[in-house]
Amino acid sequence: MQEPTVAISGRGEERLRSGHLWIYRSDVTGVRAAGGDTVRVESARGRPLGHALFSDRSQIALRMLATGDRPADLALWRERLRAAVAFRAGLHIDATAYRLVNGEGDLLPSFVVDRYGDFLVVQALSQGVDRLQADLTRVLVEELQPHGIIARNDSRVRALEGLPVAVQVLHGEVPKSVVVRDGDVEFDVDLWQGQKTGLFLDQRENRDAAAGYAHGRLLDCFSYNGAFALRLGKRCTEVIAVDISEDAVARIRANAARNHVAIDARVANVFDELRRLEREGEHFDTIVLDPPAFAKNRASVDRALAGYKEINLRALKLLSPGGYLVTCSCSYHVDEAMLGQVVYDAAQDARTPVNVVEKRMQSRDHPVLLGVPETYYLKCFILRRLA
Ligand code: SAH
Repeated sequence: MQEPTVAISGRGEERLRSGHLWIYRSDVTGVRAAGGDTVRVESARGRPLGHALFSDRSQIALRMLATGDRPADLALWRERLRAAVAFRAGLHIDATAYRLVNGEGDLLPSFVVDRYGDFLVVQALSQGVDRLQADLTRVLVEELQPHGIIARNDSRVRALEGLPVAVQVLHGEVPKSVVVRDGDVEFDVDLWQGQKTGLFLDQRENRDAAAGYAHGRLLDCFSYNGAFALRLGKRCTEVIAVDISEDAVARIRANAARNHVAIDARVANVFDELRRLEREGEHFDTIVLDPPAFAKNRASVDRALAGYKEINLRALKLLSPGGYLVTCSCSYHVDEAMLGQVVYDAAQDARTPVNVVEKRMQSRDHPVLLGVPETYYLKCFILRRLA
């Protein structure tokens, strides 16, 4: 039987040479393969280029696993998994929940594995990984011996791949909730329904860094389950956390009680709440802005920038001199330079001098791969209002 094969254009080859792992459908010139196959990739003239996962539905037709002659078999997945696990071990993460496999960043494209204590949460984000799910589960059990593995295959990305959207136990038993520790904070995490895979693990190190500056009155905006409020709140005299979701605010209250941190958790739209606090003449010493991605695609960037500008301006106005603003964007389409421009514009409008104390990104267990700009999505600036 002939090996499934996909041919790509010169522009596609150029992309691979630049270090990217994705080939778009528009750069595919010939297909002798079915969706979900691990395929041989060749040039339009038949020169072998490597092996990749093939999708017949997504705009991302190929995700490269190996270049040259190296076969993309299960041994390669196991080897990359071991390397990913060893990298995390070397980071000496002071938490029982973190990302073990970050897809492209670990050369395991469209495969995500998060560790929550003795349990693993996996995401199969392409037809190719979905096809391999049973094999990959076996490898994870052999390598890591988890008590249970759950697939959070309810990401919208799967719909683009034409894959079913479902949550499913793949191994062992997975309880309704799992208690994990992040530094000195404990969380009760819902692995079945929580946002992302349960926690926003990508912000862990930014919360650590921000805790070093936190003081006085703290306002945590877009708080979800209160992760920033809990971590920073231990250093502050008063804590207000705001989220639009009632379910999230219920989680903040439960986590606040578990950790003995007093938090005034409010269900509100941050845009309205910032305006209201300003009208009432309130001031804060530490403010966190960690909104959801305002720009989901290139077309919505302008509106997103207006949204980021608005909340940053309001926050700077609420900030006392000497206070810190921790401002984040997880929109890939709003890059670091654009966020820099937004906070500069906000400082201009607020007529206040501002220091950039730190420019940060996602935690190191969510590694960026040079050549794949999409892997750098989370920006976090720590700013200080001088006067
Ligand atoms: N800071 C959190 C993650 C925030 S995720 C952490 O570190 O874990 C973004 C959160 O913003 C979600 O919980 C969502 O419910 C909330 N949200 C989205 N739009 C909002 C709005 N306009 N006002 C308040 N909260 C909003």
